[in-house]
Amino acid sequence: MNTKIYLSSPHMGGTEQGYVNEAFETNWIAPLGPNVTGFEQSIKNYLKEGSHVAALSSGTAAIHLALILLGVERGDEVLCQTITFSASANPIAYQGATPIFVDSEPDTWNMCPHFLEEAIKARIKKGKKPKAIIVVHLYGMPYKIEEVTAVAKKYEIPVVEDSAEALGSSYKGRKCGTFGDISILSFNGNKIITTSGGGALVSKDPKIKEESIFLSTQARDDAPHYQHSHIGYNYRMSNVCAGIGRGQMEVLDEHVVLRRGMNSFYERIFKNVESVSVFKEPSSDFYSNHWLSCITLNNQFTEISTDEIRHTLDADNIECRPLWKPMHLQPIFKDAPYYGAKVAENLFNNGLCLPSGSNLTTGEKERIEVALKSIFKI
Ligand SMILES: *Cc1c(COP(=O)(O)O)cnc(C)c1O
Repeated sequence: MNTKIYLSSPHMGGTEQGYVNEAFETNWIAPLGPNVTGFEQSIKNYLKEGSHVAALSSGTAAIHLALILLGVERGDEVLCQTITFSASANPIAYQGATPIFVDSEPDTWNMCPHFLEEAIKARIKKGKKPKAIIVVHLYGMPYKIEEVTAVAKKYEIPVVEDSAEALGSSYKGRKCGTFGDISILSFNGNKIITTSGGGALVSKDPKIKEESIFLSTQARDDAPHYQHSHIGYNYRMSNVCAGIGRGQMEVLDEHVVLRRGMNSFYERIFKNVESVSVFKEPSSDFYSNHWLSCITLNNQFTEISTDEIRHTLDADNIECRPLWKPMHLQPIFKDAPYYGAKVAENLFNNGLCLPSGSNLTTGEKERIEVALKSIFKI
C-alpha cells in the first residue's frame, strides 16, 4: 500500500524543538511562561491593527470565552454561519443559548449578508435580538467583510470572527483575525500552523485580553487564598505548546505560499474540465491562505459523482473529504432555526476537499494528479 496522503498534516519548520527544549531546560512546563508571551507577541506583530492576543488551549475555548465576554447567557440567541466545523457552533450550546443558522452566498461560501439581515429582522420580530454573530472564513477564504460588518453595525450586534482556518489570509491587505469585535484563531494539528493543539483570542481592547486570561486561568480573584467570584475555566495555552507555535510563526508565510501553490496545482489539473470548479477568490480584494483546496462538481456536465472521486482516491490511500456538513442539517442542531436558500446544502452535496498540505512532496503530488486524471480521463 502507498503511504497515506492527508488533507492537511503538521509541517514543522525546524526551530520549534529549540523553543520546546528551552521550556524543559528552564522548567517552564506550565500554562504560562516565556514561550506563551513570545508566541502572543509574534501573532500580535503578524496581525498588526493594534491586536491584543491571548493564547489558549484551543480555538473552541477561544469561541467559548468570546461568547462569555459578549454576555451570551442561557436563553439567548446567537447567529452562526451554517456551513462550518461544529466547533464554531458548539460553544453557543455550552452557554445554554440557541444557535440561529444562516446560509452562505456562493462567492466566498461564507455567511450571506442578505440572509443575515433577514434572520436578524425575523428574530427581532419574534421578540429577541440575537446577542452575537459568529462568522467564518471557510477554508481560509475571507467572508464578505464589508457587507457582513455593515449589517452587524446597523443592528448593533457584535461579531465573533472565526478565523480558525484563515491565519495568513487577508482582505484588502488587512489580515483575517483583525475584523471581529472578538476574533479567534486555531493551532490544531490540521491547521496552517500548529501547536499540536491550541488557539487564541484576539481583540483590539487590552481589557478583553486581560479578561480572557483571567477566565482561562480559573478566574482567581486578587487574594492570597483561592477566592472566586466568577466561574473560571482551564483554557490557557501550555508553555511547551507555545514553543512549537513560536517556531511555526517563523514559517507561516512560507506555508501560505505553499498552500496557495496547491490551489494552483489543482487549477492546472482541472483547467479544461468543464464539470469541475476549483474554489478561488471572487476578486483581488480577497486573499485566501487556501488552507484547504476544494472543488465543486457541476453535475450538468458529468456523470462522475463526488462519492466516486472519494472512493477512487481512497483506494490509492489519498484522503479526500466532503465539505463541512451544514450545522442546520446536523442531528445535534436539527431543531435550531435556519434562514437561507440551500446554498450551503448544495455546496455540501457537490463539493470535496483535496489534499492541501504545505509539506506534500513532488511524488505525492504526482500520485494525486495521476489519480484525478484517471477519474476524469484527462
Ligand atoms: C478548527 C476549527 C475550530 C476549532 O479550533 P480547535 O483549535 O480545534 O478547537 C473552530 N472553527 C473552525 C472553522 C475550525 O476549522
